[in-house]
Amino acid sequence: MDKKALQSLILSEKKQRDTVILAHTYQAPEIIDIADFAGDSYALSVEAQKYDAKRIIVCGVRFMAETVKILSPEKTVILPVSQASCPMADNITPQQVIDFKEKHPDYVAVAYVNTTAQVKAQVDVCVTSSSVIKIVKGLEQDKILFLPDGNLGAYVAKHVPEKEIVIWDGCCPVHDGVTAQDVIDAKAKHPNAVVAVHPECKPEVVEIADMVGSTSEIIKYAKAHEGEVIIGTERGVVDYLEEKNPQGKYIQLRADKLTCKDMKITRLQDVYQSVIGISGEKIEMDEDLRIAAKRSIDNMLKYGG
Ligand code: SF4
Repeated sequence: MDKKALQSLILSEKKQRDTVILAHTYQAPEIIDIADFAGDSYALSVEAQKYDAKRIIVCGVRFMAETVKILSPEKTVILPVSQASCPMADNITPQQVIDFKEKHPDYVAVAYVNTTAQVKAQVDVCVTSSSVIKIVKGLEQDKILFLPDGNLGAYVAKHVPEKEIVIWDGCCPVHDGVTAQDVIDAKAKHPNAVVAVHPECKPEVVEIADMVGSTSEIIKYAKAHEGEVIIGTERGVVDYLEEKNPQGKYIQLRADKLTCKDMKITRLQDVYQSVIGISGEKIEMDEDLRIAAKRSIDNMLKYGG
């Protein structure tokens, strides 16, 4: 079956089966095309709560489907491909968070939303890359434990120097692979272009960029910019911009490095099979775990809203 036919089939089946499809912006364009909503990880969870549908298919990685389940427990949440997981989120265990907190008893634990439900359950507040500075500034405490992304932690520490921030040594292997030399080379090739990067990139990359922001902030910036923009985040963002704003000029910074294989593992066929109920993983979550994890997300809304 060709792509268009499969997309039509998905659209008609999802309607009949009271199903909504949410897709992260890093997903393949043919999946974003048939999604009811596309956005960053936090936007997906917030959006999920607005639909009446009984079933939500989350095209992204596991922590995103979990976050949707935490906020919409009454809905059936499906991750089309079980192996789609975030290496950064998987790289820190709940026990490591407990140990980290025990070593720093008078610190408040702040976690990036790119974490498992078990890790969210161990921390005081979650943050997104767009809300992290506001939230850390707004916390009453001056001593902060930040996890799991060391690059995002360094970015926060630079912007909130008045607080003492102890940072976990983790990273997103996709964004962390970009070097300052990659940016210098891209600028030499496109001297009139501006560079927009995600704060999951290394500090020396962030330092020489013209703009630093979350996925949605980069999209907004690139759409508004008149000339060429070099995009320093996962390549799905350039695909998204080229489709939604074709008059813009976008240059992908190191496509070979900025491709998240976990984000690309989901194919249109997997989405179809999830919609008709023959594959995909139903996210199950213990209610105690869900309530504990939700507390840190509720605090994110309290301090970041
Ligand atoms: S791009 Fe990085 S943070 Fe996002 S899912 Fe892939 S590994 Fe995880």
